[in-house]
Amino acid sequence: MTKEQLTLFIKAEARSLGFAVCGIAKADAVAPETARRLEQWIKEGNGGTMSYLERNSEKRLDVRELVPGCRSVVCVALNYYPRERDIIRGRLHLSHYALGRDYHKALKERLFTLLAHINEQQPTAGRAFCDTAPILERYWAARAGIGVIGKNHQLIVPGAGTHFFLGELLIDAELTYDTPLDHNPCVGCDRCLRACPTGALTAHGFDARRCLSYLTIEYRGELPKNIGEKMGNCFYGCDRCQASCPHNREAVATEIPDFWAAESLRAMHNDDWHNITEEKYKELFADSAVERCGYEQLMRNIKACER
Ligand code: SF4
Ligand code: SF4
Repeated sequence: MTKEQLTLFIKAEARSLGFAVCGIAKADAVAPETARRLEQWIKEGNGGTMSYLERNSEKRLDVRELVPGCRSVVCVALNYYPRERDIIRGRLHLSHYALGRDYHKALKERLFTLLAHINEQQPTAGRAFCDTAPILERYWAARAGIGVIGKNHQLIVPGAGTHFFLGELLIDAELTYDTPLDHNPCVGCDRCLRACPTGALTAHGFDARRCLSYLTIEYRGELPKNIGEKMGNCFYGCDRCQASCPHNREAVATEIPDFWAAESLRAMHNDDWHNITEEKYKELFADSAVERCGYEQLMRNIKACER
């Protein structure tokens, strides 16, 4: 197979596995400006307690340090935009990305299958990643031309919005490479900045320490006083900077059953959440990314919503 043929094969296979988009970039160091900005962002303490961001910077800044010998970064995205019946209004609710099965598992399974299919065509060494390694996922997705990073710091996929899980295959095959998209999706818009209830998103950047997603999911300590007013009914994550983005008017509901909400989750009312037992929590989130949050932290969040 020529590299052109293998490239076409990989993209066709990615589509048949359910990935909404697939783009490919040459594996090398990230742009110096990106590296400089990231270093400054961390130095200013914007990452809060996410100290892992300070580690493995050589790998984060050059994927060849993470997977020696890799030549190509195959970037994919899985749509998780919720079905109308899974959008819960007027009740406590989870961020949309957490409604279904743990996306790390759902996405990696598909990446492993993709890698196996590539190997049926030609022997290829590689590794699969999804939010589990020091990789600048949105940067690579943008570089592979599958979207553009908006002011809300999400990847905006043209004609499809921002509700995507991202994943990568780092492989040793040389392929033909895509170029970044050449347009600014945010011209004349600042809706996400205005929608952000905590000031985490501003025209100057993003401060994770103020972000409700960080505070309710990553942060293990006591929540700031009066944060409940900002949280509203969101006890796990916060979708406002996505919900406000006009590009999501073009989003279509996911057809991937992995990301549909289970009936048991959809049946939960406010009283059920406030009185949830650890046993029920484990039952609801046995195969969910929420399981890593832990019962105590979830209760901390739910109680904060009560105030
Ligand atoms: S998730 Fe919520 S708090 Fe965080 S940046 Fe977006 S709108 Fe702001
Ligand atoms: S809401 Fe507007 S400014 Fe924010 S990411 Fe979407 S298009 Fe860009």
